[in-house]
Amino acid sequence: MEVLAGLRLEELEKIMEELGATKFRAKQIHNWIYAKSVSSIDDMTNLGKDFREELKKRFVVTDTKIKVKQVSSDGTLKYLIEYPDGECVETVLMRFDNRANLTACVSSQVGCAVNCSFCATGKRGFIRNLSAKEIIEQVLTIQRDTGLKVTNIVFMGQGEPLLNLKNVLEALEIFNSDFQIGSRRITLSTSGIVPKISELASYELQSTLAISLHAPNHKLRAEIMPIENKYPIDELKKALLSYVEKTGRRITVEYIMIHNFNDTPECAKELAHLLKDLKCNINLIPYNSVNDTKYKKSSNNDIMKFKYLLEHSGKKVTVRLERGADIDAACGQLRGEVLNSAKSN
Ligand code: SAH
Ligand code: SF4
Repeated sequence: MEVLAGLRLEELEKIMEELGATKFRAKQIHNWIYAKSVSSIDDMTNLGKDFREELKKRFVVTDTKIKVKQVSSDGTLKYLIEYPDGECVETVLMRFDNRANLTACVSSQVGCAVNCSFCATGKRGFIRNLSAKEIIEQVLTIQRDTGLKVTNIVFMGQGEPLLNLKNVLEALEIFNSDFQIGSRRITLSTSGIVPKISELASYELQSTLAISLHAPNHKLRAEIMPIENKYPIDELKKALLSYVEKTGRRITVEYIMIHNFNDTPECAKELAHLLKDLKCNINLIPYNSVNDTKYKKSSNNDIMKFKYLLEHSGKKVTVRLERGADIDAACGQLRGEVLNSAKSN
């Protein structure tokens, strides 16, 4: 069976032509898929019954399943989504106080090759890239399940989006034109793949680039992020400066707060110095403990002190609210648990 989800309007129009139907039918089906997010062709009630039967001979709406769904007490929803080949990724829906903002956190790869020591995804290595269709299916799955329309997207699930850039860019285009989610409502998060940051700059996208920095210097960063040995912090900084110069866009610097490792006042001062001439906001992320690592989350007090020192240097600093902590919403955790329990069965 062929799958309707992921098809662009032009592709649907071509199919309608093959079926001897009008272009208008393509628009209707497109609307059922991306705006109303139905699960079956039978739900496309403004198509005639005979035409729906005809469609059903060749198509299904989706081939992607929800394997696990968890609901957090703060309203965060976490899904483990399964593709036809049996591979799974995580997708999270966060509702912020402002109800009009529904942010989907999507995965770009199954597993990840970057292998940061604090990350559950990295622990299992790299399995494969996701296609653009598989990326957007995550958002459609959320929309189908909740009946809500996602308004913002962050590439902060599993995988390194800049190591799957071609498919990620194609997904961005579908989010823009088919979902009507503007580029400014989409954030790409990267561990710092320097040549890809330069490539991205040349496209002059309006999306936000978030950099997982997590340390103020080479030595500390190399301890937790092996990518630092390939693309050291000085080169990364140069790439970021030229990204800002080319695109005019402000970068988001992500910084995980790990107790007694990178959360000292000295680290805050060193970070402030490093970022002094970079147009950026800073997002402090309380470390979400992953069972088998030696790290602990910073205390609230240390986080506030750190924030104060950075603000003092003139930066805008936010502390990321912990979302879905009771449902293991941190990167890679749910897939890890399901795999572990499958292994022990
Ligand atoms: N690979 C990309 C995007 C996915 S990870 C990247 O690394 O930027 C999304 C974010 O979650 C990154 O900032 C990552 O550092 C962070 N993250 C990973 N493990 C975490 C943990 N245990 N606690 C808090 N944040 C974590
Ligand atoms: Fe990969 Fe990002 Fe996890 Fe690092 S933090 S292992 S880059 S998913």
